[in-house]
Amino acid sequence: MQNHLIEAFNQLVGAEHVLTSKEDLRCYSYDATPGFSHMPDVVIAPGTTEEVSKVLALANNEKIPVYPRGSGTNLSAGTVPMQGGIVLLMTRFDKIIEIDAANLVATVEPGVIVADFNNAVAQFGLLYPPDPGTVATATLGGTVSENAGGLRGLKYGVSKHYIMGLEIVLADGRIIQTGGKNVKDVAGYDLTKLFTGSEGTLGVITKVTVKLVPAPEASKAMLAIFSDLDNAGKAISAIIANKIIPATLEIMDNATIRTVEDYAKVGLPIDAEAVLLIEVDGILAVVEKEAAKVIEVLQANHADAIQVAKDPAERDKLWAARRAALPALAKLRPTTFVEDATVPRSKVPDMIRAVKQTAAKYNVTIGTFGHAGDGNLHPTIVCDIRDAAEMERVQQAMDEIFATAISLGGTLSGEHGIGLGKLKYMEDQFGTAGISAMQAIKKALDPNCIMNPGKLVGEC
Ligand SMILES: Cc1cc2nc3c(=O)[nH]c(=O)nc-3n(C[C@H](O)[C@H](O)[C@H](O)COP(=O)(O)OP(=O)(O)OC[C@H]3O[C@@H](n4cnc5c(N)ncnc54)[C@H](O)[C@@H]3O)c2cc1C
Repeated sequence: MQNHLIEAFNQLVGAEHVLTSKEDLRCYSYDATPGFSHMPDVVIAPGTTEEVSKVLALANNEKIPVYPRGSGTNLSAGTVPMQGGIVLLMTRFDKIIEIDAANLVATVEPGVIVADFNNAVAQFGLLYPPDPGTVATATLGGTVSENAGGLRGLKYGVSKHYIMGLEIVLADGRIIQTGGKNVKDVAGYDLTKLFTGSEGTLGVITKVTVKLVPAPEASKAMLAIFSDLDNAGKAISAIIANKIIPATLEIMDNATIRTVEDYAKVGLPIDAEAVLLIEVDGILAVVEKEAAKVIEVLQANHADAIQVAKDPAERDKLWAARRAALPALAKLRPTTFVEDATVPRSKVPDMIRAVKQTAAKYNVTIGTFGHAGDGNLHPTIVCDIRDAAEMERVQQAMDEIFATAISLGGTLSGEHGIGLGKLKYMEDQFGTAGISAMQAIKKALDPNCIMNPGKLVGEC
């Protein structure tokens, strides 16, 4: 990037917030997504909405690509500066502006870490439900932009269900407000929803107003072991059919169970076809009643064994198995691709079986675990990115997994977004008309295509 532009950015945000050394640029050339990396020309960390506005106005005039970035934990290459340009680091926006406990809303800057925010609202007996595995590191801005979910998705939904309003800097530097604190607000196009999940391709979020819910009074966790995958699938559907919506309903397949047991020795039977981890939450009396009903349903669907946590220590022990799933798989090989192909809940056993067949067909190692209650599975491929022949097979396996999900009536992403990794499958899900409608929105809001170019809807 030319010196006079760097000097102009120094003037706009302060030279100490403009990084240009090779070492610094290297740190922002990748994120948590394997296989994608590119050096930016500069990293800029603005501290106010006005600074973001001025940086974008200049970038837009000069047609310099801009990649907003929170903590860089996304799994879709959302922050990788594939065309060079500016990585716009939003971590200085780290203030919780207001917790309005009486109205169950809060307004937060996008660089606030999700777990810090949840600790703050917990003091008011409140909960912000979206809880990705990265709560301790991911930012509010990143989770809103990815429409992130997590373990509580079945009962509580994903980020978009909690975002009430946004402050956004558009690609040309203009600042807009969408939504706000009103519970009922149907005025105009729903720009809040449009920008939620837009993966930094339409503008930069500088303020977020979220809905909070009362924190549940009690919870009860249990683990059920199945020697037959179909019975586990039937149990998942039967729990919901019995009008119980657990906060968490997770599954691990046999490959994951074996790996977890080898890694963490938590006492899982390695020949089980599936393990379900279920947690109900809410008012104590209701929790007891729902837990009893869930046990009845699990027994009726031939669970081989059910362990119910009697206290927080036992709950933690049950959760240890699920928490170990990703680290255990990741330890097997140097490279880990965590996908999030999602299918209607009743198709979870079909999807798990199909992934197993795909793994055998292409001779790759895949463990499947995930949020079975909402059909959001994480087929996790472990491999070695340095082995070109293996990567060819991994790519074929991935193509087949996403094609299977779509053929089962599913979607490319339950929570991780599209970014670059899944871009090539978008037309399979949305058709050419669907993609061109999305591209029209992109062109209208970002005519020079500076915002995260080439991602989500492809080249402008
Ligand atoms: C081990 C592991 C477990 C995970 N578990 C889950 C999970 O359970 N559920 C889940 O949903 N995800 C999960 N993720 C993915 C990831 O944590 C989420 O996508 C998270 O939302 C990213 O937050 P971040 O702050 O790191 O955002 P980043 O990675 O920095 O950015 C994500 C996207 O948002 C854009 N962006 C960031 N800030 C802004 C802003 N202020 N304005 C506009 N655009 C912006 C970026 O351009 C990028 O496209 C996991 C990832 C890992 C590595």
